[in-house]
Amino acid sequence: MKYLDEYRDGQIAAKLVEEIRRTVTRPWVLMEVCGGQTHSIVKYGLDYLLPHEIELVHGPGCPVCVTPLDMIDRAHAIARRPDVIFCSFGDMLRVPGSDGDLFQVRAAGGNVKIVYSPMDCLRIASENPDRKVVFFAIGFETTAPANAMAVFQAKALGLRNFSLLVSHVIVPPAMTAILESPENRVRAFLGPGHVCAVMGWHEYEPIAARYRVPIVVTGFEPIDLLEGVLMAVRQLEEGRGEVENQYARAVNPEGNPAARQMIERVFEIADRNWRGIGVIPMSGYRLNPEFREYDAGRLFDVESICTPEPEVCISGQVLSGLKKPNQCPAFGNECTPQSPLGATMVSAEGACAAYYNYGRHLVSIGTEA
Ligand code: SF4
Repeated sequence: MKYLDEYRDGQIAAKLVEEIRRTVTRPWVLMEVCGGQTHSIVKYGLDYLLPHEIELVHGPGCPVCVTPLDMIDRAHAIARRPDVIFCSFGDMLRVPGSDGDLFQVRAAGGNVKIVYSPMDCLRIASENPDRKVVFFAIGFETTAPANAMAVFQAKALGLRNFSLLVSHVIVPPAMTAILESPENRVRAFLGPGHVCAVMGWHEYEPIAARYRVPIVVTGFEPIDLLEGVLMAVRQLEEGRGEVENQYARAVNPEGNPAARQMIERVFEIADRNWRGIGVIPMSGYRLNPEFREYDAGRLFDVESICTPEPEVCISGQVLSGLKKPNQCPAFGNECTPQSPLGATMVSAEGACAAYYNYGRHLVSIGTEA
């Protein structure tokens, strides 16, 4: 299949690995930002193919993983109400809150629906005028345009029984927080291809320049990732810290201007709490004053719900690149995809789930590359 087979070609992969081997002269730690990239790296064992000088650590770009526990509890509190139809993408239904997950809320009588687009909620709202329809708006810049469009349309249509529970985060402040950490070991990033398809890459240029860190916008297939590693290693070895684009078939410098304009029309930048990491200043979106009447957090008065994370879970360190999932004492023991303790094990894109699903709980750390 075009645009797929050539990006999974073993001979091309072997040549790229050889070129990386010829280029690297000393140890470097690289972080892939997106959960989808982590998933491919672990699935294809790309980190095992790389020379020992290169260590890949896994970043915070998994939307389910970074949605904080108190936001899950707020969602459940709203979904339990008899006057609410609570809508969500399917991957959030399995994420446990303090007291079960959304499947259990539904089993106990909550009206919880899986939708494939926030726009579906507008139809549900117009068909159910006696119910309040709430969409759980999580994710990065990639999902924000459609969520913004749903609110914009609801206002244009005069639909007053629709609202968003917003838990949107944005990538650049998280990368800055990682680089500012005294414990940081990351020297280069494989940047978030999907996010840059929406936002472009200009906002990464000040980060690359300030911290002299290579940021290579990278795709999600094995060849994309190996090429991204090679481009980052070349920069590191040459002492450069620039933004480069490996994912040219999907990303241009400006991103998608119409999508960006819709985000700017409806949202404003605000502090956000990242699961396991904590509050990162100006790292997310909230509805701006013109659209705040559609803010489910305010409408249902759930913003005071605060829930501490389980102490055993080190997902914050995993999402910051400080630890690997199999360095967590609970990994594969108390914590498995069947009984997850943290969101990085629940989400299909989570690093802990990727390690478990591809058998790394069967490999001792000492044998890892
Ligand atoms: S293995 Fe489980 S407990 Fe450990 S960091 Fe991952 S999600 Fe948290």
